[in-house]
Amino acid sequence: MKKKLKIKKENRSWLDRLKINKAFLIAGPCSAETEEQVLSTAKSINNLKPNFFRAGIWKPRTRPGGFEGVGEIGLPWLQKIQKNFGLKVATEVGNANHVEKALNHNIDLLWIGARTTVNPFAVQEIAEALKGTDKIVLIKNPVNPDLGLWLGGIERIKSAGIKNIGAIHRGFSSYDALYYRNKPEWHITIELKKEFPNLPLIIDPSHICGRRDAIFETSQTGLDLNYDGLMIESHMKPIEAWSDSKQQITPLELADLIDKIVIPQATSHKKTFQLKLDVYRNELDILDSNLIELLNDRMSISELIGNMKRKENVAILQSDRWGEILPILINEAEKKGLNQEFIKEIFKRIHVESIKIQRKK
Ligand code: PEP
Ligand code: MN
Repeated sequence: MKKKLKIKKENRSWLDRLKINKAFLIAGPCSAETEEQVLSTAKSINNLKPNFFRAGIWKPRTRPGGFEGVGEIGLPWLQKIQKNFGLKVATEVGNANHVEKALNHNIDLLWIGARTTVNPFAVQEIAEALKGTDKIVLIKNPVNPDLGLWLGGIERIKSAGIKNIGAIHRGFSSYDALYYRNKPEWHITIELKKEFPNLPLIIDPSHICGRRDAIFETSQTGLDLNYDGLMIESHMKPIEAWSDSKQQITPLELADLIDKIVIPQATSHKKTFQLKLDVYRNELDILDSNLIELLNDRMSISELIGNMKRKENVAILQSDRWGEILPILINEAEKKGLNQEFIKEIFKRIHVESIKIQRKK
């Protein structure tokens, strides 16, 4: 039987040890562009005492022709940042060659990008190259909403004996992304936390949002969901950035964000708080079991309808009726102040299940 991988609590120590700011913070430009650019950005960001300064050296672009990173020549620039400001540095690696070069230049933290996590060959190659290192390695979610691939990437790095690991949530691409560049799909990270409760989880609001104006709100949502920290892209002149210019913020805007952000405590030990919480939770438990009861009753009726339709040789799916009831339900839900999308999703799911039950012989 395959041994289940566990992330032990002590493997979070790298994170706790470094939690010197309000939140664990990795900040810096999307890409290292010139030596002057990274040094001046680091100087500004250093005032915020981030845990790590980030800069992409190798940039995986979706299509050729974009800026693909300065490559190896940028690594000594990051070393200068370590030396001049005593700031730890982080960069993205996409293959074993990048790992080797980054380790040779003593980069403190390496992350695996979303376009790499999708590829088990690449992740395995990186894992092998990392063997024996005590550097921090963070695994971004894959571009597509596939928890298995993300877990697989984490397991490969863990299996190589890397102790200081964590995950970065950067959102998932979708064909109809409107508000977000990459939809957060928060439920996926909730599932990830279930699998690896002790794995440090960092939110990357820059790549989720793809736009400056949503970064604060998304950072706060992450922290409200008990994420451990933030990775935020910051550039001295965002509109002139060579990559991801729409989502970068200036160090000043970053300072403002850090100032405004609220870090919730994991829990409160106040007696009145706990007592009241328990009362509400009991009510939720009762309502949840009522929901199950109602769904069960609903499905029993679906089964009866299914039998009737079969006897009469009537088609199971009656699109007209479904087309009529859905707007009525959404309207009713809206009047009560419930989110329309949420209700639509739930009833779509109930309808699919109901059809399945009606088809059962
Ligand atoms: C990045 O961090 O600049 C980057 C390329 O991110 P992602 O892998 O999330 O697209
Ligand atoms: Mn970027």
